[in-house]
Amino acid sequence: LSQLFRPLDMLGWVYRTIRQGVIDMGSMFDLIDTRAEVVDAPHSMPLHVERGHIRFENVEFGYDPDRQILKGIDLDIPAGATVAVVGPSGAGKSTLARLMFRFYDVTSGRITVDGQDLRDVTQHSLRSAIGIVPQDTVLFNDTIGYNIAYGREDATAEDIASAARGAAIAGFIQALPQGFDTRVGERGLKLSGGEKQRVAIARTLVKNPPILILDEATSALDSRTEADIQATLEAIERGRTTIVIAHRLSTIVHADRIVVLESGRVVEQGSHAELLRLGGLYAEMWMRQAQEREEGEDLAAE
Ligand code: ATP
Repeated sequence: LSQLFRPLDMLGWVYRTIRQGVIDMGSMFDLIDTRAEVVDAPHSMPLHVERGHIRFENVEFGYDPDRQILKGIDLDIPAGATVAVVGPSGAGKSTLARLMFRFYDVTSGRITVDGQDLRDVTQHSLRSAIGIVPQDTVLFNDTIGYNIAYGREDATAEDIASAARGAAIAGFIQALPQGFDTRVGERGLKLSGGEKQRVAIARTLVKNPPILILDEATSALDSRTEADIQATLEAIERGRTTIVIAHRLSTIVHADRIVVLESGRVVEQGSHAELLRLGGLYAEMWMRQAQEREEGEDLAAE
């Protein structure tokens, strides 16, 4: 009988998840594949973010008991800092972000925000404190204004306009015949990858969270759009503790610290310059990507 009810449970969970605004995370967390494994502890309290100091203490985790993915991660992310997580595909970068959002609980060790263990706080308060700019933003079949305000029913027209300015998309919206009332999504105006990302940034600005997780798109935007978006992101990172999951190293050169993950372990960390001097995995990845960029430019010039 329980087999029969499982799909219903799943649906209920997806519905609740969407209501909580988790859909923001788009492909990053792959809603349908993720099971409801985590429940609020009976004694859980709302998370109180004072400064936004994040710590991973000897964190171990596996999706399946027989396959460990994170193998003793220690990370100290000072309040307000921007930390980029890089590493080969499958190293566990997105897994770190999923644990931060408490889609799963750690197998051992702990993750804290301002000293509070994520397992002791309500999921609602945790998810309200974290803004995610995902790889792929899901747009609802509604107005662009609704899409920006999404998750904050109390947002005023001025909040929405100001977030659009912060995300450098206000000019584009105002030029549309129906402005913020323009319908977008499947049945409305189609937005480009860069425009969608700006909507996600504006959505995050309306939410105004003390902690940010940026999941950099793997599919490249054209280099001018990418540079523009990068500048916007750097502006919204200010004053917030930010974790950037990065694929292209050129976008995280400015990070306060770069953490290099390989097979679930932190193998190097430091600033861009320090890691280049170290001459290890990061330096190797940097050289390879620089070479690829050059080859790309040569092709474009031909
Ligand atoms: P990429 O750069 O390719 O996005 P990543 O470093 O973000 O990779 P993760 O997505 O964290 O890597 O995945 C780490 C490992 O965990 C991979 O081997 C992956 O197969 C496994 N994994 C990811 N999600 C799940 C899941 N839902 N169930 C089981 N295993 C998973």
